[in-house]
Amino acid sequence: MRAAESRPCKNAAAGASVGMFHSQMDAALSEASAAAARGEVPVGAVLTDPAGRVVARAGNRTRELSDPTAHAEILAIRAACAAAGSERLPGHRLWVTLEPCPMCAAAISAARIAVLYYGAPDPRMGGVAHGARVFDHPQCHHRPEVYEGIRAEDSAALLRGFFGARREGGR
Ligand code: ZN
Repeated sequence: MRAAESRPCKNAAAGASVGMFHSQMDAALSEASAAAARGEVPVGAVLTDPAGRVVARAGNRTRELSDPTAHAEILAIRAACAAAGSERLPGHRLWVTLEPCPMCAAAISAARIAVLYYGAPDPRMGGVAHGARVFDHPQCHHRPEVYEGIRAEDSAALLRGFFGARREGGR
């Protein structure tokens, strides 16, 4: 995995006018802040289509929806798939403030998302660089390009602020 804050977009040729990719981590971080304001664990996600347009953005809503699967990534993927009328999002890029958990990593793979950018590592609940390492399994049929550590400190600061002295971490 490579950390890259401003890297030329390799796959943006689909949109002729889009030569460089534009980081959406700012928007993902605002979704995370909004989640914290709702009393949810501050994690945010933004999905962009092959032309770089934002097609979905979401923050955690597990408490609000009484749904343990309502992670930011899942909500963004569901919204984008519903809008696209497809269960797959080829060429799409997902920006998430925290390393996705195994459930979200599996959904990212199933949706055929092309590139995953994430912020802070999550040694406790993460499933990309830690724990289950979902994309590294032979059973994983689609592995996105992965870039970690983007605005990681901003993401970690939000989580620290939310969990305070307990330092519970995770989701
Ligand atoms: Zn998750």
